[in-house]
Amino acid sequence: MRYDHNNLGHRFLLGANIISALEDLKFSETVLDERNREVTMVRLSVCGNYKIVVFTTVNITDRMTRSIGKDAIRVLLLKKKGETEVFSPVSKNKRVFRVGKIEAIKERVVASVRECAMLAKEFKDKSCKSCGGSVFLSKKGNWVCEKFCWTN
Ligand SMILES: [Zn+2]
Repeated sequence: MRYDHNNLGHRFLLGANIISALEDLKFSETVLDERNREVTMVRLSVCGNYKIVVFTTVNITDRMTRSIGKDAIRVLLLKKKGETEVFSPVSKNKRVFRVGKIEAIKERVVASVRECAMLAKEFKDKSCKSCGGSVFLSKKGNWVCEKFCWTN
């Protein structure tokens, strides 16, 4: 079924599809921002240092995806900052546009989640060659020491 954002049934069905697919992947619903009214799905890594967040575009109240087609579903990988409880993004937003078949949109969300999980694994396997500390992926796509040890 081709998703039509003017069709309330489609919006409801897409919302339910995305959320149940994410629940199958052990995500749980979190309210990050009350004003935003958007269902946000979060999964914490086993080690507790990484988080995958999906901004579903599903409204908290009516459980339907937003009517406007242009704003995408966003999937993001976050990493815990040292010993703090602060998580900050370490990947670019992966955007999934709500176009095409409902099943295909859901599959693209799942694929983006897998990419984030792979990236988290890559992070864990990598460390700084100079100081052994954590690294992150720069905007240019290079692995950079989190402690910026070369500046010392
Ligand atoms: Zn270093």
